Amino acid sequence: MKQIYLDHNATSPVRKEVLEAMMPYFSDEYGNASSVHSKGQAALKAVEASREVIGHVIGTEPVDIVFTSGGTESDNFAIKGAALANLEKGRHVITSKTEHSAVLDTCKFLEEQLGFEVTYLPVDKYGVVDLDMFKDSIRKDTVLASIMFANNETGTIQPIKEIAKIAKKQGVYFHIDAVQALGKEHIDVEELGIDLCSFSGHKLNGPKGVGALYVKKGVKIIPYQNGGHHERKRRAGTLNVPGIVGFAKALEIAARDMQKVNKHLKKLTKKLLDGLQSDLKEVYLNGHPKSRLSNTLNISFRYIEGESMLLNFDLKGILASTGSACTSGSLEPSHVLTAMGVPPDISQGSIRFSFGYENTEEDVDYCLAEIPPIVKRLRDMSPLC
Ligand SMILES: *Cc1c(COP(=O)(O)O)cnc(C)c1O
Repeated sequence: MKQIYLDHNATSPVRKEVLEAMMPYFSDEYGNASSVHSKGQAALKAVEASREVIGHVIGTEPVDIVFTSGGTESDNFAIKGAALANLEKGRHVITSKTEHSAVLDTCKFLEEQLGFEVTYLPVDKYGVVDLDMFKDSIRKDTVLASIMFANNETGTIQPIKEIAKIAKKQGVYFHIDAVQALGKEHIDVEELGIDLCSFSGHKLNGPKGVGALYVKKGVKIIPYQNGGHHERKRRAGTLNVPGIVGFAKALEIAARDMQKVNKHLKKLTKKLLDGLQSDLKEVYLNGHPKSRLSNTLNISFRYIEGESMLLNFDLKGILASTGSACTSGSLEPSHVLTAMGVPPDISQGSIRFSFGYENTEEDVDYCLAEIPPIVKRLRDMSPLC
């Protein structure tokens, strides 16, 4: 049976060109980028060329990029690192209720282990943070604010530039989790005016287990791991050379094709939403109608449960998700949809379809043929209907 993968916000397939670029660094060019001999230097050269590519795409100098093991580590590094380096200023952090668990749980860690106070900002019905509320939440002892660029469950994009302006004026460090946005939206860290920015390779058709943190020059942050002198002593550990090379290659291609791919994905997501809404009653879009990632479509099918839909979709080869990969599996309603005020009887029936460049119109046609009968059948069996 054919499979239609619509879960790119969980992870995405590595492109052929990316894999090809990585291969030599597993075999012939296996050197440790810290070694002084020629094999080490060949690996180092590949790492620095990759850093250059990434720096160019995000609008900064290569030295401001620290390679990590992925988005989760970058979020931990940014938040704990900046919080611990600036204890003399205070112990208050601002974030939002719809952040990824890598940010939320790191903030909880600061509260529980280090006596920090954290403000979890509410969002509007589209999932957007209010600028005045953000401004009002800043205190004398606020060290850092962390708000995501684009939400992984709904695709909603935050007014990052405006938030950054406020944070800068008040002397608060500003971190953004741009894991979902990288390669999908134009990101220029200097233009945005941010201090710290998290990235990951595997959400943009790169490899898993590699990511980066942008650290603006002059930002006080303590190293995340101690050990060797790697990454200018900001993150110890032997560099994942094939991963770094693959990450840079994936980003280079994503940035090159961004406009074309976004146009394609907008068309697909619109076609799927329109088709489902014309065939089925009580189908709602979650997230911002316009200020949203082109690839992400979070839809609620009222009266039925996301989990049972997913299993039935899977039997037909349609692979989607009920939200974030980290919280699905639990039957708790999504914290993101709850924060947006979506009532439980609607949020429980939500499905996230997240597309990738390789999806086609035929994929959507197939979904439009297979999904409505499943939804109708489940609704017939639902006691809620
Ligand atoms: C996937 C994701 C992460 C975690 O990145 P990993 O590389 O999987 O650790 C963090 N934030 C967001 C918004 C994500 O979508």
